[in-house]
Amino acid sequence: MTKRNILIEPDPILRKKSDPVEKVDKELKKLMDDMLETMYAAPGIGLAAVQIGILKRLIVIDISKEKEKKNPLFLINPSITFKSKKISTYEEGCLSLPNYFAEIERPAECHIDYINYDGKKKELKASGLLSTCIQHEIDHLNGILFIDYLSKLKKDMIIKKLVKYKKELNKVVL
Ligand code: ZN
Repeated sequence: MTKRNILIEPDPILRKKSDPVEKVDKELKKLMDDMLETMYAAPGIGLAAVQIGILKRLIVIDISKEKEKKNPLFLINPSITFKSKKISTYEEGCLSLPNYFAEIERPAECHIDYINYDGKKKELKASGLLSTCIQHEIDHLNGILFIDYLSKLKKDMIIKKLVKYKKELNKVVL
């Protein structure tokens, strides 16, 4: 497994729509393994392929707590088939928006169809943190970031600070 570089907003790739995966083969499994390693190392609880610059509809999630056994979930071509009217609010963060958190409202429950790591069709009914996480990651596949739900003023301020942050990251210290 190889740890990959995570893209940070503003980056035009993060705003692109990802393409469906056509075949679950060795190469794709290698990519999913890399995504999982990258997510665990960050650390984060969810990562979409676009965040490492690959425009495929592919997500890895693991919401297990630190001391619990790891419980990775691989979602290939996920699609939401149901969203509850009931709303829940979570303070969300994102590996592509380091150091920023905001309370975001989303449907409390969602159902999805997807393909798993072994290439099998699956269904999942999610609630709580998992539901929020799935919706956040599917947004990535459509070029949407959680800051898009904030006011323009707040969003612009965060992007401005991220531009500065990225400049600092790129400075070479001799
Ligand atoms: Zn994210």
